[in-house]
Amino acid sequence: MAVDLHLHSTYSDGSNTPVEIVDAAVAAGLTGIALTDHDTLEGIPEAATAATERGLRFVGGTELSVSWKEQSMHMLVYFLTPGPGALPDRMVELRASRDGRNTQIASKLQTLGLEVTMEEVRVEAGGGVIGRPHFAGVMINKGYVDSVPEAFDRYLAAGRPAYTPRLRLTAEEAIGLSRESGAVPVIAHPHTLNLRATEFAEGFAELVSIGLGGIESYYGEYAPAMRTRLAAICSDLGIVATGGSDYHGRYKPHLAVGTGKGDLRVPDAALDQLLAAR
Ligand code: AMP
Ligand code: ZN
Ligand code: FE
Ligand code: FE
Repeated sequence: MAVDLHLHSTYSDGSNTPVEIVDAAVAAGLTGIALTDHDTLEGIPEAATAATERGLRFVGGTELSVSWKEQSMHMLVYFLTPGPGALPDRMVELRASRDGRNTQIASKLQTLGLEVTMEEVRVEAGGGVIGRPHFAGVMINKGYVDSVPEAFDRYLAAGRPAYTPRLRLTAEEAIGLSRESGAVPVIAHPHTLNLRATEFAEGFAELVSIGLGGIESYYGEYAPAMRTRLAAICSDLGIVATGGSDYHGRYKPHLAVGTGKGDLRVPDAALDQLLAAR
């Protein structure tokens, strides 16, 4: 019995609707999922309804980009619903900053000689929150690059010529706002943090003391040994080892709902423990 607690839909930079994701989860034999679109809660009602109809356990969430020790960190936040609240209210500002950043990315690409307009990117995004993978999609359609990773490596990633920063909460702010909103904050794919093992342990302990509820240990793109190591760190810290595929449909075509690259399995207990961490 397995779950998938990290999924992106058309409401952000995934290419499948929430209903399609629920269907894929049922087909994969999962017992529960969480929808974690970037900076938005808009897909949650649709996904919740479809999941309930199909007997799948469902958690509404989001994925935020935060800053921690001068690094970029992603934080998954579970048990959120659309509507007013400490964190949902701040997310309005985050989306506004994202919009401004998007306009700047388009103009930088144009300066570099790539004809990519905001209108084309909006069409690519299909009405959801616009992210860099949508820029990559337009660049692929127009033949400027062959793949999403190539678009990031050449233009969109930090340090590349079209990169533009946007407003980010600190990890501490995100944890505080999450708990104020009755939600559970979890560090996503911590491998992207450039830290040594001891720094990891000390830094995570600090965050646990202010409300961090878990670390994404069973991640779609990790080798099994890494997953086990992270789950052991969670167990030492007394927090939940969560997990998910980070499914994005055609924007990350090597990842599948529930199974990631093929070998992912997130135990049901991760969802039970997450519920208990509320
Ligand atoms: P944004 O929210 O617009 O900053 O874009 C973040 C999205 O871009 C996330 O879905 C990431 O998985 C994706 N992403 C970030 N870096 C890369 C990369 N180097 N290659 C492919 N996708 C990436
Ligand atoms: Zn994404
Ligand atoms: Fe992420
Ligand atoms: Fe993600």
